[in-house]
Amino acid sequence: MDAPWLEVNLSKIRHNAHSLVKMLGLSGIEAMGVTKAAMSLPGIVRAMQLGGITCFGEVRLSGLRALRQSSSGRRIVLLRSPMISQVDRVVRLADISFNTDLNVLRALSAAAVAAKRCHGIVLMVELGDLREGIMPADLQESVQYALQMPGLSLVGIGANLACRYGISPDAVNMGELNDLVEETERTHGISLEMVSGGSSSSLSWLCTGVDPGRINSIRLGEAILLGRDPLTGEALSGLCDDAFTLFGEVIECKMKPSLPWGVVKRNGFGETPATKDRGLVTQSIVALGRQDTDPAALTALGGEQITGSSSDHLMLEADYKAGDLVAFTLGYSALLRTMTSPTVEVHEFWSDAPMPLPSS
Ligand SMILES: *Cc1c(COP(=O)(O)O)cnc(C)c1O
Repeated sequence: MDAPWLEVNLSKIRHNAHSLVKMLGLSGIEAMGVTKAAMSLPGIVRAMQLGGITCFGEVRLSGLRALRQSSSGRRIVLLRSPMISQVDRVVRLADISFNTDLNVLRALSAAAVAAKRCHGIVLMVELGDLREGIMPADLQESVQYALQMPGLSLVGIGANLACRYGISPDAVNMGELNDLVEETERTHGISLEMVSGGSSSSLSWLCTGVDPGRINSIRLGEAILLGRDPLTGEALSGLCDDAFTLFGEVIECKMKPSLPWGVVKRNGFGETPATKDRGLVTQSIVALGRQDTDPAALTALGGEQITGSSSDHLMLEADYKAGDLVAFTLGYSALLRTMTSPTVEVHEFWSDAPMPLPSS
């Protein structure tokens, strides 16, 4: 195997999926598996399926295609409003798409009719994080519009939080989602099958023992893949937070001053990193950089401090020798970039190691 490479313990992903499916099932909530951060690799999709996931979410056509190939018979959801330029493919690849824009709905409707298909729609409402979503005051008008569109079927309502401003799910915004669902059903005399109450960041709110109301689905990427709560970065109890490990090889190790010398301007990334004189330090360089991963979201397993990075070099304060391997755990943005980078080989395996006990 060529360094750098990423090891993926599929047993741990299956364990996380299974634990979350079971835990949410107790409250009547479906766990939708979001596979985009793992590029919907067949092994990872399979691990989620074995853990009991039956509905998958993706955001790009390439991801939808990968899901179609590896999860036959499963429900596939496009989690981002379709591009008008892609609606013909969206109605073929996804069973359902998330929507917010009436022009997109019109184009989707025409594409669904042309393909002789019925395409499911979830309308997303804005609850304060100011990313996608219909303003609550405009929701009923959009519902009315969607209901009239041939080829489309209104499956549900959803919301997204915590992605732009980190606005966290709570009784107020989740209560508003609930009220909007009931208002919609009353106003139009319909019943909504899916109420999608957010992402991994909704877990901590749901786990406080609240009544989820009409929420019957949440979309889980980070919680299944990394076993962590995005709101805090902390491991979720009973889950594995080490399914992914990134390995890089050391190419230089030297004693060097900790303070750079010469005239300071910007580095290659437009930054001027803070410096501090700590005398001589032992610096190891790993052949790994921002083109392969997000070094800011890596943690060296041995606890050594990462002191800097450029496109292809990562500096560690550690006493290795050239040829040594260094292992890192990944935060979400490191996972995202590592999986997306063709410069990192991915190695998936199943292990029989004991898994954490389910949380009580
Ligand atoms: C990526 C994505 C998710 C998954 O978020 P996690 O924090 O990884 O659980 C959920 N919803 C939407 C709309 C997404 O794009």
